[in-house]
Amino acid sequence: MAGSDSELTQWTLLEARERLRAREVSAVELTEAYLARIERVEPAVRAFLTITADEARAQARDADARRAAGEDAPLLGLPLALKDVLCTAGVRTTCGSRMLEQFVPPYDATAVARLAAAGAVFLGKTNMDEFAMGSSTENSAFFPTRNPWDIDRVPGGSSGGSAAAVAALEAPAALGTDTGGSIRQPAALCGVVGLKPTYGRVSRYGLVAFASSLDQIGPFARTAADCALLLAVLAGADPCDATALPDPVPDYLAELAGDLRGLRVGVPREYFGSGLEPGVEAAVRAALTQLEELGATVDEVSLPHTEYGVAVYYLIAPAEASANLARYDGVKYGYAVPAPTLLDGYFRTRAEGFGAEVKRRIMLGTYALSAGYYDAYYLKAQKVRTLIKGDFDRAFERFDVLATPTSPTVAFRLGERLTDPLAMYLSDVCTIPVNLAGLPGLSVPCGFVDGLPVGLQLIGPPLSEGRLLRVAQRYQDATDWHRRYPYLNAEY
Ligand code: GLN
Repeated sequence: MAGSDSELTQWTLLEARERLRAREVSAVELTEAYLARIERVEPAVRAFLTITADEARAQARDADARRAAGEDAPLLGLPLALKDVLCTAGVRTTCGSRMLEQFVPPYDATAVARLAAAGAVFLGKTNMDEFAMGSSTENSAFFPTRNPWDIDRVPGGSSGGSAAAVAALEAPAALGTDTGGSIRQPAALCGVVGLKPTYGRVSRYGLVAFASSLDQIGPFARTAADCALLLAVLAGADPCDATALPDPVPDYLAELAGDLRGLRVGVPREYFGSGLEPGVEAAVRAALTQLEELGATVDEVSLPHTEYGVAVYYLIAPAEASANLARYDGVKYGYAVPAPTLLDGYFRTRAEGFGAEVKRRIMLGTYALSAGYYDAYYLKAQKVRTLIKGDFDRAFERFDVLATPTSPTVAFRLGERLTDPLAMYLSDVCTIPVNLAGLPGLSVPCGFVDGLPVGLQLIGPPLSEGRLLRVAQRYQDATDWHRRYPYLNAEY
């Protein structure tokens, strides 16, 4: 990275917190360093849809005042970015869609409210594929985000803005959402850590719904330890979300302690099939060797129903999306086209307000749920989903974690998969089964191929986030992939 930037932006969240607590830096200084970095690299990266500089400055001043008064809180004065699918009171929340271009929510998502209560400073809302449907952020109705490692390539998606912001040192950490891979795949492609918690670990209240049985909110950061810090704030029951799990929230930072001796790592052979780039496979295999050196035992395992994952997902996710997106009718809120009849209004609003991929999903889902096809498609998909979950249940009788590539390829070029939806859908072949089974999954940087980052995916049984974070952090302690920064030239 260029020398003109403040070194403050290279600190991890935990490093920044140490310095804030030691009064070596103020929240205002930290926030100004990030706002300056954003101003300098945004013309190249375009990670943000909305930059809330004034609000961030006010929140930082408030954090400094609280600290001066002797207060502390887990995230007091730490800047963060939020995917624009999370409702923020008084701040536009677009979901990457024309439909919600002017939507200003009257309330905060629970995840946002918890971060705010813990003292966080919000830098802005990040770009995403429209309604979180996509793997490249090119489906944003506004503009694509660029991969900071090569601005001719995609950052992954759908949380590409959040991943790119963290990789480009525009934020030390960010929130994303993951329905089929949208945290882990962009984390891998941008060279940062991304955690999708167990389904229900984090409340979805105030998360604009895509596929409600799959959606989860989770953190991006440069280290697993930073993700632990955030998850400890985010996780827990919520009276506003009946699917938020009541299980007690562990002290995730404390759970980072311990070595990997005796850890049993399973390597599902189905994840190393055709379509996997040789460079990605080599980096992942080297990471497995590293885990062995750290004391783990590594053995092969079979998850025989893996091959049905993408097909099952593209019935269930669009089916749920078609129901969730029925609310965008131009009557209650969002984009609205006045028309002579109510039906005309619906047609025009939805024709103009939604992009091509969203319409494709609504049509797929409506078809899969329609009378006469429901049993053949939706119901059958639900049954195969149970088989996929059974594969994991059996594997976790023998293994503590499973390790796979996060994405079969490194970041692809902008436009490369736009005209081929199936190629785009296959970006998530390694991540989708984890959502279908409701399990926690994490991507940690494990190397580079021709200057482009590769991610290692770790999968665990329900509520094993502490274990996944510990394995990832021990791996990061032994490697320095996450200490490399993309060079971003201000001339772009
Ligand atoms: N890429 C997948 C899709 O397009 C997953 C998206 C997500 O996890 N939100 O549906």
